[in-house]
Amino acid sequence: MSTRPLLNRSLAGMGTTIFAEMSALATATGSINLGQGFPDTDGPEEVREAAVRALRAGLGNQYPPGPGIPELRQAVAEHQQRFYGLTYDPDTEVLVTAGATEAIAAALLALLEPGDEVIAFEPFYDSYAACIAMAGARRVPLTLRAPSFRPDLDELRSLITPRTRLLLINTPHNPTGTVLTPEELATLAELAVEHDLLVVTDEVYEHLVFTGTHHPLAALPGMRERTVAISSAGKTFSFTGWKVGWVTGTPELVAAVRTAKQYLTYVSAGPFQYAVAEALRLPDSYYADFRADLHRKRDLLVGGLTAAGFRAFEPQGTYFVTTDITPLGEKDGLEFCRALPERCGVVAIPNAVFYDDAEAGRSQVRFAFCKRVEVLEEAVSRLHALRTG
Ligand code: PMP
Ligand code: GLN
Repeated sequence: MSTRPLLNRSLAGMGTTIFAEMSALATATGSINLGQGFPDTDGPEEVREAAVRALRAGLGNQYPPGPGIPELRQAVAEHQQRFYGLTYDPDTEVLVTAGATEAIAAALLALLEPGDEVIAFEPFYDSYAACIAMAGARRVPLTLRAPSFRPDLDELRSLITPRTRLLLINTPHNPTGTVLTPEELATLAELAVEHDLLVVTDEVYEHLVFTGTHHPLAALPGMRERTVAISSAGKTFSFTGWKVGWVTGTPELVAAVRTAKQYLTYVSAGPFQYAVAEALRLPDSYYADFRADLHRKRDLLVGGLTAAGFRAFEPQGTYFVTTDITPLGEKDGLEFCRALPERCGVVAIPNAVFYDDAEAGRSQVRFAFCKRVEVLEEAVSRLHALRTG
């Protein structure tokens, strides 16, 4: 047997995702899982029923069309128009993917060449690093630093080189909860235009903004023609297991992403695509109630963590709160998270794994608040024991 490593070198050291590791730990120890970001109640009943109806009617049980079913592409285009005034042609400018995860992978594999540089906010969502590496490109982090977690746009300017091909922007940002302001977006857009960069925007938390408003970068001058926007039904409709995501962009950009996507999954989630088409057309009250519910839960968890001795950084968006564990006399988030289930029956995520500069995130720990109120209350009461016990 050859001694050559089995795993392709671009994936070396990536092992098991932190989400899988921590969810397995939650199951093994029977802990409350505030780690991996998934809700503990399913999305709207009528959307679930729409999936059952599609399945029974034989809609989508065989390969759906490569770009996604027309009903869903139309619904995505209507959603972009309704919330942002952006017009996309459902036939050429919308692509359905297997969650945002596949959209990210397909976009990066399609748009990058080996040696290209990609600037992304650090801490970055774990699949960014893996997909940039699989494309043979190089990630260049722009570190968001506590306590504000705002991007330093002068630093961004200094990171751009002739090899920079793409900005990978995530707003609202996982795990810090930063929501980019119109001024920050305007500067990003100016830099992208000035340096002729492509932009991929991960907007999966677009409907979870509590402070400020979500503005898609594609709406800014000069951006539509260079931006691939990504979102997903997992977060907005609380069906993370369905893996229905989508991409919007110009026909040329969407065609490029589709070329890569064809050879990743070809298609996915047939009957669920019909259900998500209905979900996207839910009335404004659905979106407002969803946001209000998570807003209450954010306040509950931020307040509870603070009372339990954490330094909690109130997120402007997403369903995660990043904390600093230093006030608890702790230094290392990874060690802390590995011990937490044994110590008090709660699971969280160490932010250090989302950093190249692990030191910058060493004492940060992320908690998810997309859980029932009683679960959040019980978790907080368990975490209080860290100080007393
Ligand atoms: N991007 C970010 C920032 C995320 O937090 C997630 C996790 N939902 C994804 C992408 C992946 O989304 P999906 O589950 O639709 O693949
Ligand atoms: N997006 C989810 C999170 O940040 C995890 C999704 C996954 O496990 N890949 O928690």
